[in-house]
Amino acid sequence: MGFLTDSIHAGQTPDASTGAVITPIYQTSTYAQEELGVSKGFDYGRTINPTRVALEANLATLENGKHGLAFSSGMSAIQAVAGLLSAGDHVIVSSNVYGGTFRFFDKIMRRYGLTFSWVDTSDLKQVQAAITPVTKMIYVETPTNPMLTITDLKGVAEIARSSKLLTVVDNTFMSPYFQRPLEFGIDLVLHSTTKYINGHSDVIGGVVVTRDDGLHEKLRFLQNAIGGVPSPFDCWLVLRSTKTLGLRMKQHNANAVKLADFLSGHPKVKKTYYPGLASHPQYDLAKKQMSGFGGMISIELGDLEKGKTMLRHVKIFALAESLGGVESLICHPASMTHGSVPLEDRLKLGLTDGLVRLSVGCEDGDDLLEDVSGALGSL
Ligand SMILES: *Cc1c(COP(=O)(O)O)cnc(C)c1O
Repeated sequence: MGFLTDSIHAGQTPDASTGAVITPIYQTSTYAQEELGVSKGFDYGRTINPTRVALEANLATLENGKHGLAFSSGMSAIQAVAGLLSAGDHVIVSSNVYGGTFRFFDKIMRRYGLTFSWVDTSDLKQVQAAITPVTKMIYVETPTNPMLTITDLKGVAEIARSSKLLTVVDNTFMSPYFQRPLEFGIDLVLHSTTKYINGHSDVIGGVVVTRDDGLHEKLRFLQNAIGGVPSPFDCWLVLRSTKTLGLRMKQHNANAVKLADFLSGHPKVKKTYYPGLASHPQYDLAKKQMSGFGGMISIELGDLEKGKTMLRHVKIFALAESLGGVESLICHPASMTHGSVPLEDRLKLGLTDGLVRLSVGCEDGDDLLEDVSGALGSL
């Protein structure tokens, strides 16, 4: 089936007892057993829940995977994946990963005896060079936040295969509508469903998808053992949202392409970062592994004052953390999402004080253009 059909139907059948078209919210913590040892396959709410099962099947299908596991947050999904590792293992991580991922690996998992190399994974030679005899995993985010650097998924999967390493891709920025890492040979794909997958800025959630039965069993064990599961209501909200994921992504993309075009030709904008611009250094790779360019744009305005002025003058774009919702958001990564990254590291990535990030929403493109144009006019 096509993506739009799957997004509406996968994992969901009308309720057998009532015919309800929409999967109910099974708000229950436990299930009555017919007699000792005889159940309907459901025993306890942390272990399994019918609303969650429907969501997991839906997201597994959209990623072109086989198994999905839903979590109470993106970080909780990442914690389950880290649970596959043991003390002494080494992990290669994209140097510009989500700040919360950096914090979790560096401040917590390092205390458990894991070691990490922070590598520019967009350069496959650096990935290859970072492999040691105890390396177990390559953890990639592509495109990165907020610089929108792209890593070659097929290339990373090939390097990993020859050294028997597990590959993980955080696909939050693209959503499965525009990028499906499993199709390039990646082992595990994860999302903060908080962002595009839910898309309505009203749920915190995460998911891990794989095609591998063995990995799925291990992760299912971890999901149940650690317990970071989403509530039935949150599962229901995300399941409702995936029905329009493709439609939303098309609109995010169309608006962002239009805005990026405008911004890249604007005299007040020193640089526009967007994978859909021919000027993006990895435009060809973007076209090869993504079927669209998404809704995230970063622009360099020169200094903090100009950034602040722009943030102050937009009317539709709300100044807020997070991304991927239908409403457009604007943020200042250096002081907001990446405030904890040391200055020297930030500048190395190009993450200056004059950088502003846009999460382009699903409003009318012309309104967004006028909003941004007006704000830039005040600089
Ligand atoms: C938000 C985000 C996360 C963390 O997800 P939460 O749902 O906030 O726990 C992980 N990776 C990326 C790329 C994100 O944007």
